[in-house]
Amino acid sequence: MTIKAYSIEGNGTYAQDVPAFAEALKAAGSEVVLVPGNSRVKRSMPAAALRAGAEVDTNIVDVAVAGETVTVRRWAYRQRILTAFSRAARPWVIVTDPALFGEICAKLGVTPEALPAAAAPADTRTTVNGVQAAGDGGESTIRPDAKLLFVAGAGWTKKQADGAVHLDEAAKAIKGFISKSGASLGSSKSLVDMPEAAAAFTFMSHMNQVGQTGSTPRHAKGLATCCHGEEPHVVGWRFINERRAVNLDANCGWAQGKADVLYVADAFAVMDKVNELLG
Ligand SMILES: Cc1cc2nc3c(=O)[nH]c(=O)nc-3n(C[C@H](O)[C@H](O)[C@H](O)COP(=O)(O)OP(=O)(O)OC[C@H]3O[C@@H](n4cnc5c(N)ncnc54)[C@H](O)[C@@H]3O)c2cc1C
Repeated sequence: MTIKAYSIEGNGTYAQDVPAFAEALKAAGSEVVLVPGNSRVKRSMPAAALRAGAEVDTNIVDVAVAGETVTVRRWAYRQRILTAFSRAARPWVIVTDPALFGEICAKLGVTPEALPAAAAPADTRTTVNGVQAAGDGGESTIRPDAKLLFVAGAGWTKKQADGAVHLDEAAKAIKGFISKSGASLGSSKSLVDMPEAAAAFTFMSHMNQVGQTGSTPRHAKGLATCCHGEEPHVVGWRFINERRAVNLDANCGWAQGKADVLYVADAFAVMDKVNELLG
């Protein structure tokens, strides 16, 4: 197993560093290359690895070598799960946490070399042929400037009183309200993770998720519908001042001091009426 480590300090532009790093990776001829994940490396090394035909992984906190197998560790899911994985592909560029680079090199018995700086090759300048508007790719439901955040929860996809699910009616009620009111659309994690909802809820993606592992929007008011008000979700509401929720369950999380007003009601009926009143 050939392992090389480069300490990369100082500064360099993306245009200078990408070709220089790529050349260094090719010249190194090593199966595994270790670099510290400082801002310069994070900015340019992934593109350099692509140019050099190498695989690259960032934010690595540990590297272990056993024969031909290299295993690395990386935190996932906001530092809640420590994962371990290896790759068969070579060369493999391993970008370590910068604070752990020295320790990892010492553990593997590799002495880092300084990577020589290179001037920008003349042919990297981009010539602009023209400009074309990208468009917004469809209707946007995330509107940071809206006064109201409207949150849809997984209850919209659950069996209702008649024993059936009503995905199309749910989509119509949610979309109708979002377009009539100009509110921004948020979601619970349960709803955006639900593959069966994706076909009907095309206006919603993981980008809409509010909460601990989602966004923390800053709207003046919030209205949660069919959402239980679990702590990992409501923590994303910490900058939302006036909070209301519609839930069939009078003991849902919102009732535990998390909302100012809880309407114990059927959100399908409530939102249909609201949409009717909005015209
Ligand atoms: C580490 C970790 C991180 C997490 N991060 C997040 C996060 O960032 N964001 C997030 O949202 N969640 C997060 N979760 C998940 C969270 O704990 C909850 O599981 C999730 O928020 C529940 O989503 P929900 O309220 O939409 O669905 P459910 O818990 O299924 O609740 C559905 C609600 O809909 C109500 N309902 C059903 N039909 C109707 C109707 N007709 N009218 C009115 N109400 C109705 C039900 O009474 C029920 O209360 C995280 C969990 C963990 C462990």
